[in-house]
Amino acid sequence: MSAARKNKNVHVISHPLAQSILTELRNKDTSQIPFRKGLVKLGRLTAHEIISSFPTKEIYVETPLKVKAKGVVVPDMDHIVIINVLRAATALVEGMLKSFPKARLGVLAVQRVEEKEGIENVKPVKFFVKIPKFNSEDTVIIADPMLATGGTLLTTIAEVYKVGKPKRLILSTVISCDYGVDMVTKKYPEVELYTVAIDHKLNTHAYIVPGLGDAGDRSFG
Ligand code: URA
Repeated sequence: MSAARKNKNVHVISHPLAQSILTELRNKDTSQIPFRKGLVKLGRLTAHEIISSFPTKEIYVETPLKVKAKGVVVPDMDHIVIINVLRAATALVEGMLKSFPKARLGVLAVQRVEEKEGIENVKPVKFFVKIPKFNSEDTVIIADPMLATGGTLLTTIAEVYKVGKPKRLILSTVISCDYGVDMVTKKYPEVELYTVAIDHKLNTHAYIVPGLGDAGDRSFG
Protein backbone atom coordinates (compact mmCIF):
# COMPACT_ATOMS: atom_id res chain seq x y z
CA MET A 1 0.00 0.00 0.00
CA SER A 2 1.35 3.46 -0.90
CA ALA A 3 2.16 6.02 1.82
CA ALA A 4 -0.69 8.17 0.45
CA ARG A 5 -3.26 5.44 1.17
CA LYS A 6 -1.98 4.96 4.72
CA ASN A 7 -2.40 8.65 5.60
CA LYS A 8 -5.44 8.99 7.90
CA ASN A 9 -6.39 12.26 6.18
CA VAL A 10 -6.62 10.59 2.76
CA HIS A 11 -10.03 9.05 2.00
CA VAL A 12 -10.44 6.94 -1.12
CA ILE A 13 -14.13 6.67 -2.04
CA SER A 14 -14.55 2.95 -2.66
CA HIS A 15 -18.34 2.99 -3.21
CA PRO A 16 -19.06 0.85 -6.31
CA LEU A 17 -21.14 3.64 -7.87
CA ALA A 18 -18.21 6.08 -7.61
CA GLN A 19 -15.82 3.45 -8.96
CA SER A 20 -18.08 2.60 -11.91
CA ILE A 21 -18.47 6.29 -12.83
CA LEU A 22 -14.70 6.70 -12.64
CA THR A 23 -14.29 3.73 -15.01
CA GLU A 24 -16.56 5.49 -17.51
CA LEU A 25 -14.52 8.69 -17.18
CA ARG A 26 -11.23 6.85 -17.73
CA ASN A 27 -12.55 5.31 -20.96
CA LYS A 28 -11.21 7.28 -23.95
CA ASP A 29 -14.48 6.58 -25.83
CA THR A 30 -16.61 8.50 -23.30
CA SER A 31 -17.60 11.72 -25.05
CA GLN A 32 -17.94 15.24 -23.65
CA ILE A 33 -21.50 15.23 -22.32
CA PRO A 34 -21.40 11.83 -20.51
CA PHE A 35 -17.95 12.80 -19.22
CA ARG A 36 -19.26 16.03 -17.72
CA LYS A 37 -22.35 14.31 -16.31
CA GLY A 38 -20.08 11.72 -14.68
CA LEU A 39 -18.12 14.48 -12.96
CA VAL A 40 -21.37 16.03 -11.70
CA LYS A 41 -22.38 12.66 -10.19
CA LEU A 42 -18.97 12.26 -8.56
CA GLY A 43 -19.27 15.75 -7.06
CA ARG A 44 -22.52 14.73 -5.42
CA LEU A 45 -21.14 11.38 -4.20
CA THR A 46 -18.01 13.03 -2.81
CA ALA A 47 -20.17 15.53 -0.95
CA HIS A 48 -22.08 12.60 0.59
CA GLU A 49 -18.81 11.04 1.79
CA ILE A 50 -17.77 14.36 3.31
CA ILE A 51 -21.16 14.70 5.01
CA SER A 52 -20.66 11.23 6.58
CA SER A 53 -17.69 12.70 8.45
CA PHE A 54 -19.70 15.59 9.96
CA PRO A 55 -21.10 15.33 13.50
CA THR A 56 -24.88 15.06 13.78
CA LYS A 57 -27.19 16.59 16.37
CA GLU A 58 -30.34 14.84 17.63
CA ILE A 59 -33.57 16.76 17.29
CA TYR A 60 -37.28 16.02 17.64
CA VAL A 61 -39.86 17.04 15.05
CA GLU A 62 -43.62 16.73 15.10
CA THR A 63 -45.03 14.63 12.24
CA PRO A 64 -48.46 15.23 10.59
CA LEU A 65 -49.77 12.50 12.95
CA LYS A 66 -49.11 14.88 15.87
CA VAL A 67 -46.45 12.68 17.41
CA LYS A 68 -42.80 13.42 18.01
CA ALA A 69 -40.13 11.65 15.95
CA LYS A 70 -36.47 11.62 16.80
CA GLY A 71 -34.17 12.71 13.99
CA VAL A 72 -30.88 14.40 13.22
CA VAL A 73 -29.54 17.56 11.63
CA VAL A 74 -26.04 18.13 10.30
CA PRO A 75 -25.12 21.66 11.44
CA ASP A 76 -21.78 21.81 9.56
CA MET A 77 -23.66 21.57 6.25
CA ASP A 78 -24.71 25.18 6.76
CA HIS A 79 -21.09 26.34 6.94
CA ILE A 80 -19.53 25.32 3.64
CA VAL A 81 -17.36 27.26 1.22
CA ILE A 82 -16.48 25.56 -2.08
CA ILE A 83 -13.56 26.75 -4.21
CA ASN A 84 -13.88 26.01 -7.92
CA VAL A 85 -10.44 25.61 -9.50
CA LEU A 86 -11.28 26.75 -13.03
CA ARG A 87 -12.16 25.35 -15.38
CA ALA A 88 -11.84 21.62 -14.82
CA ALA A 89 -13.64 21.58 -11.45
CA THR A 90 -16.83 23.25 -12.70
CA ALA A 91 -18.81 20.02 -13.22
CA LEU A 92 -17.58 18.53 -9.93
CA VAL A 93 -18.70 21.72 -8.15
CA GLU A 94 -22.11 21.56 -9.84
CA GLY A 95 -22.61 18.12 -8.23
CA MET A 96 -21.39 19.31 -4.84
CA LEU A 97 -23.81 22.23 -4.87
CA LYS A 98 -26.68 19.75 -5.16
CA SER A 99 -25.67 18.35 -1.76
CA PHE A 100 -24.53 21.66 -0.25
CA PRO A 101 -27.18 24.06 -1.60
CA LYS A 102 -26.27 26.76 0.93
CA ALA A 103 -22.54 26.71 0.12
CA ARG A 104 -20.73 29.94 -0.67
CA LEU A 105 -18.55 29.75 -3.75
CA GLY A 106 -15.05 30.98 -4.57
CA VAL A 107 -13.07 30.64 -7.78
CA LEU A 108 -9.43 30.42 -8.63
CA ALA A 109 -8.13 30.46 -12.19
CA VAL A 110 -4.78 28.74 -12.55
CA GLN A 111 -3.13 27.56 -15.72
CA ARG A 112 -0.50 24.85 -15.86
CA VAL A 113 2.43 26.13 -17.86
CA GLU A 114 5.02 23.61 -19.04
CA GLU A 115 8.28 25.54 -19.36
CA LYS A 116 10.08 22.45 -20.64
CA GLU A 117 9.57 18.69 -20.40
CA GLY A 118 9.77 17.19 -16.89
CA ILE A 119 7.34 17.28 -13.97
CA GLU A 120 9.40 19.82 -12.03
CA ASN A 121 9.02 22.25 -14.95
CA VAL A 122 5.21 22.31 -14.93
CA LYS A 123 4.29 25.46 -12.99
CA PRO A 124 0.91 26.84 -11.97
CA VAL A 125 0.30 30.41 -13.12
CA LYS A 126 -2.47 32.09 -11.14
CA PHE A 127 -4.45 34.86 -12.80
CA PHE A 128 -7.69 35.32 -10.88
CA VAL A 129 -8.64 34.64 -7.27
CA LYS A 130 -11.96 35.36 -5.56
CA ILE A 131 -12.53 33.65 -2.23
CA PRO A 132 -15.42 34.65 0.05
CA LYS A 133 -14.74 35.55 3.67
CA PHE A 134 -15.06 32.61 6.07
CA ASN A 135 -14.42 31.92 9.73
CA SER A 136 -13.37 29.09 12.04
CA GLU A 137 -16.88 27.55 11.91
CA ASP A 138 -16.64 27.00 8.14
CA THR A 139 -15.39 23.99 6.21
CA VAL A 140 -13.62 24.97 2.99
CA ILE A 141 -13.67 22.42 0.16
CA ILE A 142 -11.28 22.95 -2.76
CA ALA A 143 -12.46 21.06 -5.84
CA ASP A 144 -10.02 20.08 -8.58
CA PRO A 145 -10.51 16.77 -10.42
CA MET A 146 -6.81 15.91 -10.86
CA LEU A 147 -4.12 16.07 -8.17
CA ALA A 148 -1.00 15.55 -10.30
CA THR A 149 2.15 17.45 -9.19
CA GLY A 150 0.22 19.27 -6.48
CA GLY A 151 1.30 22.69 -7.84
CA THR A 152 -2.23 24.01 -8.42
CA LEU A 153 -3.55 22.77 -5.09
CA LEU A 154 -0.56 24.14 -3.14
CA THR A 155 -1.21 27.53 -4.76
CA THR A 156 -4.92 27.30 -3.92
CA ILE A 157 -4.34 26.25 -0.29
CA ALA A 158 -1.97 29.23 0.17
CA GLU A 159 -4.70 31.55 -1.19
CA VAL A 160 -7.27 30.06 1.21
CA TYR A 161 -4.94 30.58 4.18
CA LYS A 162 -4.49 34.26 3.17
CA VAL A 163 -8.22 34.66 3.94
CA GLY A 164 -8.19 32.72 7.24
CA LYS A 165 -8.08 29.36 8.99
CA PRO A 166 -11.22 27.29 8.38
CA LYS A 167 -12.53 24.60 10.72
CA ARG A 168 -11.54 21.99 8.13
CA LEU A 169 -9.80 22.32 4.78
CA ILE A 170 -10.79 19.51 2.40
CA LEU A 171 -9.53 18.77 -1.12
CA SER A 172 -11.95 17.01 -3.43
CA THR A 173 -10.37 15.30 -6.42
CA VAL A 174 -11.31 12.47 -8.76
CA ILE A 175 -7.84 11.02 -9.41
CA SER A 176 -4.79 11.81 -7.30
CA CYS A 177 -1.29 10.46 -7.70
CA ASP A 178 1.22 9.51 -5.04
CA TYR A 179 3.60 12.34 -5.96
CA GLY A 180 0.96 15.07 -5.62
CA VAL A 181 -0.52 13.62 -2.42
CA ASP A 182 2.98 13.60 -0.87
CA MET A 183 3.69 17.19 -1.95
CA VAL A 184 0.43 18.46 -0.44
CA THR A 185 0.31 16.38 2.76
CA LYS A 186 3.96 17.04 3.65
CA LYS A 187 3.46 20.79 3.46
CA TYR A 188 -0.07 20.83 4.92
CA PRO A 189 -0.59 17.69 7.07
CA GLU A 190 -3.85 19.10 8.45
CA VAL A 191 -5.49 19.13 5.01
CA GLU A 192 -7.90 16.25 4.24
CA LEU A 193 -8.22 14.66 0.83
CA TYR A 194 -11.29 12.92 -0.63
CA THR A 195 -10.49 11.20 -3.91
CA VAL A 196 -11.95 8.39 -6.01
CA ALA A 197 -8.59 6.85 -6.97
CA ILE A 198 -4.88 7.14 -6.39
CA ASP A 199 -2.78 6.33 -9.47
CA HIS A 200 0.93 5.78 -9.15
CA LYS A 201 2.57 7.44 -12.13
CA LEU A 202 3.01 10.83 -13.77
CA ASN A 203 4.33 11.11 -17.31
CA THR A 204 6.98 13.65 -18.30
CA HIS A 205 4.24 16.23 -19.10
CA ALA A 206 2.85 15.75 -15.55
CA TYR A 207 -0.27 13.89 -16.67
CA ILE A 208 -1.51 11.15 -14.35
CA VAL A 209 -1.09 7.59 -15.74
CA PRO A 210 -3.37 5.75 -16.37
CA GLY A 211 -5.48 8.79 -15.38
CA LEU A 212 -8.28 10.03 -17.60
CA GLY A 213 -6.51 12.58 -19.82
CA ASP A 214 -7.12 16.33 -19.57
CA ALA A 215 -10.20 16.76 -17.38
CA GLY A 216 -10.87 20.35 -18.56
CA ASP A 217 -10.62 19.50 -22.25
CA ARG A 218 -12.73 16.36 -21.89
CA SER A 219 -15.46 18.30 -20.02
CA PHE A 220 -15.52 21.44 -22.10
CA GLY A 221 -13.79 20.72 -25.40
N1 URA B 1 -4.70 17.70 -15.18
C1 URA B 1 -5.46 16.89 -15.96
O1 URA B 1 -6.51 17.30 -16.46
N2 URA B 1 -5.06 15.62 -16.14
C2 URA B 1 -3.92 15.12 -15.59
O2 URA B 1 -3.61 13.95 -15.80
C3 URA B 1 -3.13 15.99 -14.79
C4 URA B 1 -3.56 17.26 -14.60
